[in-house]
Parts: sequence; structure tokens; C-alpha cells
Amino acid sequence: MGQSKTVWDNPAEIIRHQKPDHPVMAFAPQVLQDNARRYVAGFPGLVTYAVKSNPEEVVIQNLLAAGVRGFDVASPFEIDLIGRLAPSAARHYHNPVRAGWEIDHAVAAGIRAWSVDSRSELDKLFARVPTATDRGAVEISPRFKLPVLGAAYDFGSKFGATPDLAAELLAEVAKRGYTPSLTFHPGTQCTDPVAWESYIRVAAEICDMAGVRAVRLNVGGGFPSHRVMGVEPDLPAIFAKIGETAAEVFGESLPELVCEPGRGLCADAYALITRVKSVRDGSNVFLNDGVYGGLTELPIIGNIDRIQVLTPQGLPREEDLHPRVIFGPTCDSVDRLPGEMALPAAIEEGDYVIFHGAGAYSTVTNTRFNGFGAMTHATVMSLA
Ligand SMILES: *Cc1c(COP(=O)(O)O)cnc(C)c1O
Repeated sequence: MGQSKTVWDNPAEIIRHQKPDHPVMAFAPQVLQDNARRYVAGFPGLVTYAVKSNPEEVVIQNLLAAGVRGFDVASPFEIDLIGRLAPSAARHYHNPVRAGWEIDHAVAAGIRAWSVDSRSELDKLFARVPTATDRGAVEISPRFKLPVLGAAYDFGSKFGATPDLAAELLAEVAKRGYTPSLTFHPGTQCTDPVAWESYIRVAAEICDMAGVRAVRLNVGGGFPSHRVMGVEPDLPAIFAKIGETAAEVFGESLPELVCEPGRGLCADAYALITRVKSVRDGSNVFLNDGVYGGLTELPIIGNIDRIQVLTPQGLPREEDLHPRVIFGPTCDSVDRLPGEMALPAAIEEGDYVIFHGAGAYSTVTNTRFNGFGAMTHATVMSLA
């Protein structure tokens, strides 16, 4: 182990000086803050952060510094984490299924915004949640779903009421004296703004069916990160589509808009530095990290092809790309990345493969399965 620093220039400097044998998550606070400011300035409403995508305290702190004032919390742990780090921030408990004790915990912690997608869970809320606290009114947002559109991963098979049921729940919420709002989640890594457009149109229909004006409409997460070379997410187009569609379909009764991105905020602020353990018989590449570590998501939503290969001296290998199968370090045969990835022909044991945009659903899902996954963290000025 060589020189140690608190803040490195970039991933290449870490590689040159430390030659890490275990995976390193390189975090660029500046990138996170710049990105968060783009959301806060560009989204036509309140930006909240879905904590589950990356609950590192440095992430929460940098988001607060950049002006994020609300959080989507989905468990007692996340409720308490944000309560401690950001006592004055809004916390929306948008996990629509909760045990009784979890509801009681959240009430005691001062939660005033809930989502729901079933009658049984709504009855649990009615029984345990007061309609107002000393900090103000309590909001319940039925969550509805549509058939999947343009998302890399389908959330609708687990959560979301049909529009008909959502209308019934919304009417019931209003009748009981809670603040009626609506929410949806279009899926994750949605690159097409149309995903939001269709949901917002149906949200207006649900309000009509229920005869209720929604006070707020939460358009979920699902905002894309930069996973694929040459395909930059077009955030302004998505924000514009959301704002225009809502104004068109709701007119005078436009609800306040809220979004709750996870991946879109945090993913591109991290790069995962992995090391080549072996190039087996000159073909398959084995890395020191895989689907039980920082790359858990890749088999579910597809490869990150924004990768770089560096020598231990930190110099890029770019020439002569060849498709290779990439395996992770464990003895489990599912521990491989989907398909094949283009890697330089000269790649060899001891080289480093950097996966850019790896900050979401990675540090938090890393496991020590099979004795691997000794991931460390480093802070960098820049990811390039
Ligand atoms: C996971 C989740 C999000 C964040 O999803 P991303 O695709 O990471 O933006 C937002 N809202 C809810 C309710 C979620 O469960």
C-alpha cells in the first residue's frame, strides 16, 4: 500500500499510488452537488431523494448542501437516518406496505406523508395515523401503476393499485380528513419522457373518477443515469414533459409536483474501481468484484458500458477492443456480467476496470459472500 490521501485527484491517481487489491468506490462530491443543483433548479416542484439507492451519510450531506430538502424514506432505519442528519427536511414514507410496528415508529418519528396501494394497508393507516400532527396536516398518497413503459426494470409487479382502485382509495383518504395526494413510480432508468406523460394523464383521470383534487402529485423516481456510452440522459426534456403535461391535464387544479429520484441523483457521482484477477487462457476476464458486490444490478438492468481499463501505472488501455465474458470473483456461476463486453485485447492480470456511474444500488447492496466484497471508499475531486 502506497501513499494515502483524504481526497484524490481522480480514480487513476488512486490506482497509481495504492494499487488496490479490493474494490474501491470513488465518490466525487462535486459531481453529486452539481447534479443535485440541476434537479433543484430544473424540476418544476419539490425534489426529494430516494434514500435506498445510496444511504451513505456523505451522500445525504452533500445533497443537503446542494439544496435538496426532502427524502423518500422506506424503512424505520431510513426514517431515523434522515431524522438525525436533516431534522428539518421533509420525509415521505413511500413504502406502501408496512408492519404495524413500523407505522407506529414512523408516527412517533413525526412522519406526515405516506403512500398506499391497497385497502388493507389503508385501513392500517386509518387505525394508527392521526389526520394531523402538531407540525401540520397528514398526507396519504395512493400509488397507482400502468403497464410498463420505457423502464429498465419493472416496479409495477410489486407495487401500485390499478387506476380504479387508486380512485377509490383517494376518495376514502379525502373523506377521512387526510390530505389527498397521488403518487406513482414509472420504473427505474426511464430514458423516455413519455413514461411520465402517460402516468400524469392517468393521474388526472383518477382525480376525476374520485371527484377529489389531489393536493400533490409525486412523479416518482426512475430518472436515468449515464450508463451507456454516447447516450446522455436528457433531463431537461423529462422535466419539461412533466411540467407541460401536468399543466395541460390538470389546468386550474394543478397539484404541487414532487419527484423522488434515487439513481438519477447519486449514480453518476461514483466510479467503481475493480481489478483484473485473471485473464483465463487469454479469454474470459475475472474481476475482484461482481454481482454479489458493487455490480449487483447489472444482470437485472443491463451492463454499464461506460468503462475504462487502466494499467497499474494508471495509463489507459484503449486499443483493439474485443468482446469478453466478465466474471466476478465468487465460486457461484451466476456471478458474471450479462453478455460480453468490449475490452482491450492487451488487458492483463493486475489491470483495473473502472465502471462509471456506479453509485446507485451498489455500495448498499454489496455483500461479503464467499469472503469477497471488502469494498473501500475514497473521495475524488473528479471522476475523469
Ligand atoms: C426506489 C424508489 C425510488 C427511486 O427509484 P430510482 O429509479 O432509483 O430513481 C423512488 N420512489 C420509490 C417509492 C422507490 O421505491
